[in-house]
Amino acid sequence: MKLIETYKSPNFNDRRNKTSVKYIILHYTAMINYLDSINYMCSTDNKVSSHFLINKKGETYNLVNVSKRAWHAGESFWKGLTDINSASIGIEIDNSGHHINFENFTHLQIKSLIELINQLVKKYKISSHNILGHSDVAPFRKIDPGEKFPWIELNAKQLSYLPEINVKNNGNKKKNIKSNFFSPKLREKVLFFLKKIGYDTREIKTTSNKFNKLVESYQRHYRQTIITGEIDYQTYQLIEQHYKDMLTF
Ligand SMILES: [Zn+2]
Repeated sequence: MKLIETYKSPNFNDRRNKTSVKYIILHYTAMINYLDSINYMCSTDNKVSSHFLINKKGETYNLVNVSKRAWHAGESFWKGLTDINSASIGIEIDNSGHHINFENFTHLQIKSLIELINQLVKKYKISSHNILGHSDVAPFRKIDPGEKFPWIELNAKQLSYLPEINVKNNGNKKKNIKSNFFSPKLREKVLFFLKKIGYDTREIKTTSNKFNKLVESYQRHYRQTIITGEIDYQTYQLIEQHYKDMLTF
């Protein structure tokens, strides 16, 4: 694929402790115009960057050399790791985001993204489980790339993981989304599963707002049609299946 090298961001440093690339983190730009996003990330004032940006036409800009540590994830956490920037490649996808229009991602964008991820996965041997959204690694601060991001298209190319549950058990939508259905003990179990999957569960109680934030983040990626922040039967099934699949990957 053709990478555009016209713009370079000065906002990077060396990956710390020679950390190798293990994750790909997907973002949306949260701006109307992709050139504004590029300018923003190329200005020393802003101290943010990403390795790549894909505009709506599917044109892919390489802003930071992949060997370097771009500054895209901010304060983050995954599986005990807090310096996500050192261990990841950041890809910004041009989309105005929830606070503006949150338009659909374009076909050309996703096509280019798949091509890019395909190359990176091969080169850095990245597991499909480790291709995550910004909201996964910063669930209390971030909601990008959001519930419109087509994880299912990446999943179809084996480029991202989605749990598969028995649809037969999910015919009754009302039952599936019934909240507060779960006992404290089951909620503890959910928290345990989310922790094992990789989410930041440090100091989280199942009765706290942060617990709901975590569930919301989970749904935004893995059950995009209904985002409630509440544990329901289907969400429980997905998280449980996810945990089981984690044990074998
Ligand atoms: Zn982001």
